[in-house]
Parts: sequence; C-alpha cells; structure tokens
Amino acid sequence: MSGRKRVVLKSGKDQSLRRYHPWVFSGAIKKTIGNPVEGDVVDVYDNKENFLATGHYQPGSIAVRVLSFLQVTPDIGFFRDKISAAVGYRRTLGLINNPSLNVFRLIHAEGDHLPGLIVDYYNGVAVMQMHSVGMYRLRREIASVIAEVMKGYVTAVYDKSEATIPYMSGVKAENEFLIGDSEPVTVTENGFKFTIDWVKGQKTGFYIDQRENRRLLGAFSGGRSVLNMFGYTGGFSVYAMRDAASVHTVDSSLPAIEMAGQNVRLNYGDDPRHKTFGVDAFDYLDNIRDKYDLIILDPPAFAKHNNVLSNALQGYKRLNMRAIEQIKPNGIIFTFSCSQVVSRENFRKSVFVAAANTGRNVRIIHQMSQPPDHPVNIYHPESEYLKGLVLFVE
Ligand code: SAH
Repeated sequence: MSGRKRVVLKSGKDQSLRRYHPWVFSGAIKKTIGNPVEGDVVDVYDNKENFLATGHYQPGSIAVRVLSFLQVTPDIGFFRDKISAAVGYRRTLGLINNPSLNVFRLIHAEGDHLPGLIVDYYNGVAVMQMHSVGMYRLRREIASVIAEVMKGYVTAVYDKSEATIPYMSGVKAENEFLIGDSEPVTVTENGFKFTIDWVKGQKTGFYIDQRENRRLLGAFSGGRSVLNMFGYTGGFSVYAMRDAASVHTVDSSLPAIEMAGQNVRLNYGDDPRHKTFGVDAFDYLDNIRDKYDLIILDPPAFAKHNNVLSNALQGYKRLNMRAIEQIKPNGIIFTFSCSQVVSRENFRKSVFVAAANTGRNVRIIHQMSQPPDHPVNIYHPESEYLKGLVLFVE
C-alpha cells in the first residue's frame, strides 16, 4: 500500500520482529519515510524493502508498538475484532457473568495483542489506561467498542490515562468518563467484597493480578498472626481475615490504609483482629522479631529501568532478609516482585541471598505468577511481570 508512513530498520535489526516480538526500539531504526509523528500508524520494513509489521509510532525508546504482523488498516473494525477476541477469551475463562467474581482484566496490552492498552473491569465499569498516543487518539472509539461488545455488562467507561501517556509526548490527557458515569463500585472477588475507587486509587484502582495468590494466601492463614506489608487497599488482608488469628496491614499511603480498613469492615464488620499502620515498610520491619507467623511482601516495582536493576535486586534482598530473620519458627512468607525488568531467576537469587544471610532453613513451597486474565504473550517475555514465592522458614 503506497502512501503509508514507514519505518525502515537497520540491517540485521529485523530479527526480533521476525520472531513476533511486538516492539521496535529506536536504536533499530535506519530512517522514517513520510515524517511520522507520535501516534501515527506506520508500516515497518527491513532494509531490503520487505514488509514486517504495522504499528503505532512513538518517539522514545519503544518507537513502534506492533498491532499486526500483517499489513492492516487499524480502523474501528480492526479494534472490534481484537476486543471481541479478548472478551471471548475471558468468557472461556468463566469470568463473564460470574456471580462470585465481577472484577477482572479485560484487555492486557501485548498479552491480548493490543500493545499500549489496559482495560480493567469493575462490576459494570471499565477503566482504561493508554500507554501510547496511538491508542490514546482512539480512546473514544475503543470506549464505544467496549460498551458494544460488553453490552449488558458495561454501563460506564472511564479513561485514566493522564499518568500513563508517555511523559515526553505533547498530548495532555485528562482523566474522564467517556461513556456513562459512576460512583465507586463494590466488586466481588472469589466471594469477598471490595470497594473500588478508580479516581483516587493507584493504577486503575485495584491490583487484580494478585487474585489467585490472594486465594492461596487465604488457605495458609488459618490461626496465624498475619502481617500484610505494602497492603494497599487490603486485598490480601480481606482473604486472610477469614481464618487468621490477627491481621496487620501496613502501607505508607494513608488513603490506601483507610480503604483497607473499610474493605475489611465491608466483609467482617468491626473486627478487633484487624489493625492498620500508615507507616514506612522498612521502619515497621525494624522491630517485628517473633511477632508474626505469616508475612506478605508485595512492594511496588523497585525497578522501572534496566539501569537501576542492581539497586532493585538489593532492595528485594534487604526486604526479604528482614522478614526471614524475624519471622516466627515455621513461619510462612509470601514474597513478590512486579518489576518487569526483574526476571524470575533474578528475583529468586535475591531471595536466596537474603535467606543465606540469615542462616535459617528456607524452603520454597509454591511459585506464583499472574492469573490467566493477564496472559503472557510468548513472543513478548516482558508481559510476564509478576512473580512470587511462598517460603517456609524453619
Ligand atoms: N498488595 C497490594 C498491592 C501493593 S502495591 C494488593 O494486593 O492490592 C504497593 C503498595 O506499596 C502501594 O500501596 C504503596 O502505597 C505502598 N508503598 C510504597 N512504598 C512503601 C513504603 N516504603 N512503605 C510502605 N508502603 C509502601
């Protein structure tokens, strides 16, 4: 198709696209043709005029996010097909029209072949986050397709892209409802209730990706004194409270900790077994020797870029060391990393070094990941970001 804007790669820089990796890094580009600007649709060619892919152009480190390895016109029909496929996949997972679960990820960017687009579903409200200007330009069309494809299940679509659009872009995004309107809603996850506030909350409002790990945690909590570090709005705490002897939720964000208290009350009323602490995690961990027999460590992403990787690994080591040192004998630790640049192997090594420094016997009894509504595109290993270990500390 002539007249389309092009990105031409340097010799030898076509290999990752030929293996279906959906990103083109700026360093791989030889030249552009047609003067593409951020958000434009471009065709990517190798330096011998062979077509490779169609995607959204974005000046910056990730210069093209691939929409298709066929030469397509990404119009509303294209997005309807992709979004319908994402919804159909969630239907096969049993997530749609499920009375005990009405909170899930509806679209997981590269994992659903829609790079730059995240959509989370909260009991009738879809919350979108766009990570590229190409997707942001299409926000109204995408919102209407979501409402159409999820007819009967979606009454409002909120766009929360203000903080996720690339910061160098000239686009000034505003958070707003594109369809309908809604106050915060109450959702049900595996039978537990949570109030979700996408306006005030972090990310789209809730860490949906920990759903299956919260369920596993629930199964380990019986009779234990539980410490939920980096507890946010109390996801793990609510599951633990079903059978635990006590649950302490720690987070440095005061609005988060207040919501954690509210979510526990929503499920259990005023229950003296639960306490919240709005303090820094590292300060709290200074003095907890023999106080807890189950500790959850779910810190924010320490590493956002490769150049801080070693600092991040140090951070995981320090954090895990404090917990392993001080937990009661025969204690259990749920420890996580959600950093995309920290591999499963590297995370495990940090925990290994932490354990070795304490001299205690530590066994790995479960390995955790992200749930199937956060699918990992096999050609895009970066989509696997959440990893966790359940440790048994003698
Ligand atoms: N476990 C949560 C998600 C945790 S997100 C869930 O399942 O919902 C990470 C949390 O760590 C955020 O709520 C953030 O406010 C908190 N946080 C970041 N730095 C912190 C620190 N130094 N001390 C305590 N909490 C911190």
